[in-house]
Amino acid sequence: MPTTALLNIGSLVTNDPAQGDGSPLGVIRNGAVVIEDGTVAWTGPSDSAPAADTAHDAGGRAAIPGFVDSHSHLVFAGDRTEEFHARMSGRPYRAGGIRTTVAATREASDEALAANLAAHLREMRRQGTTTVETKSGYGLTTHDEARALRVAAEQADEVTYLGAHIVAPEYADDPDGYTALVTGEMLDACAPYARWVDVFCEQGAFGEDQARAILTAGQARGLTPRVHANQLSHGPGVQLAVELGAASADHCTHLTDADVDALAHGGTVATLLPGCEFSTRAVYPDARRLLDAGARVALSTDCNPGSSFTSSMPFCIAIAVREMNMTPDEALWSATAGGALALRRTDVGRLAPGARADLALLDAPSHVHLAYRPGVPLVTDVWHAGARV
Ligand SMILES: [Zn+2]
Repeated sequence: MPTTALLNIGSLVTNDPAQGDGSPLGVIRNGAVVIEDGTVAWTGPSDSAPAADTAHDAGGRAAIPGFVDSHSHLVFAGDRTEEFHARMSGRPYRAGGIRTTVAATREASDEALAANLAAHLREMRRQGTTTVETKSGYGLTTHDEARALRVAAEQADEVTYLGAHIVAPEYADDPDGYTALVTGEMLDACAPYARWVDVFCEQGAFGEDQARAILTAGQARGLTPRVHANQLSHGPGVQLAVELGAASADHCTHLTDADVDALAHGGTVATLLPGCEFSTRAVYPDARRLLDAGARVALSTDCNPGSSFTSSMPFCIAIAVREMNMTPDEALWSATAGGALALRRTDVGRLAPGARADLALLDAPSHVHLAYRPGVPLVTDVWHAGARV
């Protein structure tokens, strides 16, 4: 197999504490990465890199593992610019806005949904994201949820069944009937395309008993839970996620001490989605509280047309540092290794031998610039599975 070397990396983040400075980021000064067959074969100081068939000079730029965006909603159609415009012009946010996207998504062809998804994945890739999770949740019929997942499975790394995003409009007077659909016929049609099952556990969406029924039905079909939890208010979502062994509890905006304790001592990652608070003018969660308690934290965009229409992980890092009390090192770790943990992946989110060769070069001397220079497009080169994008 031909080998490729990236040499002269001013500051190389590996997320392998056994390397470099011994910090959780495992930073190697003047580092190099050697790639073989799409995976990392070697990392270390540039001046001791083994000979490779092809060599690229990073010119002293920083390199980081490709971002792992573990939470997005990219199978959709339609436009909600006006809703955002109104909200930011002083009208209060209403969760019913999802229905606008549901109507447009149902009307769109498979080809249109696939093209929109592809465009957003390209946009993410350009910004350094090399692993993406995405969901259904704008179909809300058996047919439309299954085709959303079929479209997602063709392009995204990780796919989640979110038939329980909101109660379908047709079931507004019969939410238990909709839960029966989500745990029955719809699940049967969707399970083959998904690895994960998710539910929006919130007042006005799905309560504790419904969420439990949805997640355990998914588990019985081999899906692993993740939960939209505690976004708009305190509630049972986080503790239910931990109890059921969910990979991740996402949002975690409103947490009691007992919620923080459950996350710190359970196996569930707390995934924070600062783009959502930003775009809805909501109060940010305090990541410091989770980190100090010992919880594992991931950062993700929640990219969706309603409440967080950003695909930028660097933007989320900058907000997490400025508004959520994360250090620049913690924020980068959460956007890479943390996302991988939330997706139970060991092959991404780090640059160590055996990992998929996913990395981003920054027009900056170190990863700290991602927070230090907010809004500046610092990602200059992206490598995915050993190939330059
Ligand atoms: Zn979401």
